[in-house]
Parts: sequence; structure tokens; C-alpha cells
Amino acid sequence: MTLTPLSGPPTARLLEAIYFAAEQHRDHRRKGQTAAPYINHPILVATQLARAGFGDDEELLMAAVLHDVIEDTETTRAELARKFGEAVAGVVMEVSDDKSLPEQERKLMAVSTIAAKSGRAQLLKLSDLIANIRDVIHQPPNWNAGRKHRYFDWAENVVRQIRGVHPALEAELAQLLEEGRRQVGST
Ligand code: ZN
Repeated sequence: MTLTPLSGPPTARLLEAIYFAAEQHRDHRRKGQTAAPYINHPILVATQLARAGFGDDEELLMAAVLHDVIEDTETTRAELARKFGEAVAGVVMEVSDDKSLPEQERKLMAVSTIAAKSGRAQLLKLSDLIANIRDVIHQPPNWNAGRKHRYFDWAENVVRQIRGVHPALEAELAQLLEEGRRQVGST
């Protein structure tokens, strides 16, 4: 596609971001039993933010639909900046892990760095965790109980660092954690 998203109306730019993300993730599936198309996840992350009062924050919603393209596809920061602007590229970079680090280290970094990130990056991360926990509960990946509990504990720890950023979304996450822990049991 050769449209120029930066010059179009907001809805067109957001749709173009969705189209771009869908193309980049076209061969990816979610980890859950249903192996849903990966793009469902970033769309859900953006939808939750729109419903939480950020429907007019076009750059946040674009960053949300694009939030995994740096980590999981060949997309570069420069490409994002060119297509969707510096602000969007910046937020996507903020929420992208450094994949050259071992997983355990990335998890620790997520906890230790989130408080210093921009408000948009914090909101996006919060919505991302809500979507992921929702999936662990409703479309569970092939994880044992211990791994699920570790994921819940880690997510809770990340969000504890940014307490107050959005009470309603935080309450939603707390409720999902309770549901998830009840479902998995005390194994
Ligand atoms: Zn995500």
C-alpha cells in the first residue's frame, strides 16, 4: 500500500496501522488452544484503551495496534517512524523488550523500568497485560499451574510499579488476576 498515513484523517491512519500490523503478523498465531490469529491481540489491546477513555488518542491507539511488530517481526523503528510518525514509533519502542536479553532478564527489566516510561507506554503495557491474562484464562496456552501463577505474579508486580495510572484498568486487571488464580488453584 502506498497511502501516506500521516496526512490522512485519524480513522484512516488508525486503519492503516491495523492493516500494517496484520500484514506483519500474518504468519503468527497466539499461544492458546485456539491458536487465534495474532492480530486479534493488538486489536484487543487498542480496543480496551479506546473503551477506557482514550478513544481520541489516535497515537496511543496506533501504538497499541503496532505494539508487537518490533519484537516479533522484521519491522524497524525507522520504518514505523516514517509510516506512522515519531511519536507512535517512540511509544512502540518503549514497550518493546530487548530480545537479545535472556527471557528472565527481560521480565526483571519490565518491572524495573516501567515507572520511568511515558504515560502512554504505561497505559499500553497495562492494557497488554490485561489482554494477556484474559487469554491465559479464556484461551489457555499449554502452561502448567506453576507457570501460570508465575505469570500472574509477574504481571501484578509490573502493574504495582505504576499504581494509579488508570484505576479502572488496574481494577480490571486485579479482578482478572483473582479469576485466574481461582481457576488455576493453589498448585
Ligand atoms: Zn502484547
